[in-house]
Amino acid sequence: MAVVLPDAVATPRSVTILGATGSVGRNTIDLIKRNPADFVVEAITGGSNAALLAEQALLLRPRFVAIADKNAYPALKEALSGSGIEVAAGAGAIIAAAERPSNWVMASIVGAAGLAPTLAAVRRGGIVALANKESLVCAGDLMMREVARSGATLLPVDSEHNAIYQVFDFERQDGVEELILTASGGPFRELTRDAMAAVTPEQAVAHPNWDMGAKISIDSATMMNKGLELIEAHHLFAMPEERISILVHPQSVIHSLVRYRDGSVLAQLGQPDMRTPIAYTLAWPERMDVPVDRLDLAALARLEFATPDTVRFPALKLAREALRAGGTAPTVLNAANEVAVAGFLAGRIGFLDITNLVDHIVAELSHYAVDSLDMVLAADIEARVRAGEFIDSKTT
Ligand code: NAD
Ligand code: MG
Repeated sequence: MAVVLPDAVATPRSVTILGATGSVGRNTIDLIKRNPADFVVEAITGGSNAALLAEQALLLRPRFVAIADKNAYPALKEALSGSGIEVAAGAGAIIAAAERPSNWVMASIVGAAGLAPTLAAVRRGGIVALANKESLVCAGDLMMREVARSGATLLPVDSEHNAIYQVFDFERQDGVEELILTASGGPFRELTRDAMAAVTPEQAVAHPNWDMGAKISIDSATMMNKGLELIEAHHLFAMPEERISILVHPQSVIHSLVRYRDGSVLAQLGQPDMRTPIAYTLAWPERMDVPVDRLDLAALARLEFATPDTVRFPALKLAREALRAGGTAPTVLNAANEVAVAGFLAGRIGFLDITNLVDHIVAELSHYAVDSLDMVLAADIEARVRAGEFIDSKTT
């Protein structure tokens, strides 16, 4: 049965936030709180932090709250008793939250765990603000097919893709020659491979420009984040891999660029603050006030650019190869990377082992075409198991 959605441009706009307790989720709530008359909250979800999710629920008064970790259910239920808010737990409850009728869904769960809920949100139509890049990396063809079928409006939240979205000529796509994704280069932009071998998780999560969750911060340090974003851009803008380039830009002021056939290059600029791209999707197709510092180009005085170094940052090459190979190759790349990042954060493997492990698992597993969510999830699990065994064999 099709869900009848409220008018997408209605005011107040009804919203659901998947991954409300994370970095993107908290920034989204910050904007909603500042504009209480413009939004009503249908549902929010979290992973395992019952205390924060309950606090957010009491503030936003959603109809439905779901937490992935069933062990956290009693604490959440207790904290929201008497509030009249419906509470549920488990992976199915997160999907149920995504399926509820609302104008706008923020997909900001981290990792492939966000795939099924994001797909559920896409399948019901309406506006889906997409932060969860891993879902496009592991199941991009499937996701974009469902977007076309459901008529959902997929608005990218990732700052680079949001920038491209703002300057991309969707009406005359044959005029577009190239997408240029900017990359800060992360905290180890100038480190040698030898020095990278010794970096700690604390050093790796400390991003010079952006304040983000742990997983994406490590991805930024290995530059796998830019590799994942290359695959994300390929799907969002139907652009072949060879027409997407990466440009190191340490100041993170130009968020990305589109080059046209006549030589014009259009870019979007702003402070490195996720509230700007989130606000773009929250208010779309209008604009809303955001309390970020205004960009002062004269004070900045200079912006720098460089070609990325794929020898020191092999993740860029691995992601390009996986995208070219197609089928489940990006699914495997993503799953192996998630396991490797978790292993690094837990102190089980070194920083350089992250991309070594991804390289090894992508080379070892065969890749095949997929046409269902179940097939994607099977490839994802197989890669996780192999990556886990690989880490065990190195650490025992
Ligand atoms: P985060 O770790 O801060 O938050 C992740 C959220 O997902 C939390 O609410 C967590 O509870 C939830 N979650 C984790 N595992 C879950 C599971 N198994 N089931 C249900 N929920 C689960 O991450 P983040 O930095 O906010 O990033 C979220 C997504 O947005 C990622 O895909 C990231 O790549 C993307 N993104 C983030 C930023 C940023 O500034 N943080 C920028 C661009 C893109
Ligand atoms: Mg980004």
